[in-house]
Amino acid sequence: MDSLLFALVLLGISGSYVTNAEISREQLKKGCSNKPADIVFVLDESGSIWGPYFKKQLEFVKDVVGIFQIGPTKTRIGTVTFDSTSRNIFNLNTYSTATQIKQALDGVEQHRGGTRTYDAIDKMHNEMLSSSLARPGVPRIAIVITDGESEDPVMTEKAAKVARDDGIIMFAVGVGNKANRKELVSIASSPVNDYMFMVDNYAGLKTLRKILAWRACQALRVEVLTPLSEDDLPLEGVMWRK
Ligand SMILES: [Mg+2]
Repeated sequence: MDSLLFALVLLGISGSYVTNAEISREQLKKGCSNKPADIVFVLDESGSIWGPYFKKQLEFVKDVVGIFQIGPTKTRIGTVTFDSTSRNIFNLNTYSTATQIKQALDGVEQHRGGTRTYDAIDKMHNEMLSSSLARPGVPRIAIVITDGESEDPVMTEKAAKVARDDGIIMFAVGVGNKANRKELVSIASSPVNDYMFMVDNYAGLKTLRKILAWRACQALRVEVLTPLSEDDLPLEGVMWRK
């Protein structure tokens, strides 16, 4: 029995979960509505990221933001971009509405320097999701979007591990044709199939955003759903009920 079928059987037994294909937008909202989270996006703006692709990253973040209920007592969003320098675009408590966040993202420009992913992860961990900004008892989630080609993969792996060991849930999203899967795996939480996504092109991000939002919702649950394998993720032609 493959994992998808197995998951479906479990779903039938528990009756409390739905598959990717069955998740409607309404269900996504409902699933996240009472689950506050502190989420920081870590976005690669280095020179290896083609300009239009960087814009796609920003659109992706805006799309994901639209799926969560945003507010001071609900889900809060922060964003850091990085090349050789890590830039705090806005903190968890900077904005209180999705509209404000989307407007702020529209104003972000790409600097196209080096790729010090580890510095950005450190900043996310030690500053943006630190105890002075993150809420006690609320899940802390980081979503790192990169082509996976940092200047020092060992330092990137270490920074991600330190963050994970401190309880931060780490998603890694690979972008670009040359995305380095190995580094993405080293960033993501376990099991990797739940927290690491590769897309062949940026169009895939549009579909991926829904899966990612769902995974983030799942990460907020105490219960654990049998993970679908990477092959099971319907990156193309996914059926989302409107
Ligand atoms: Mg780069």
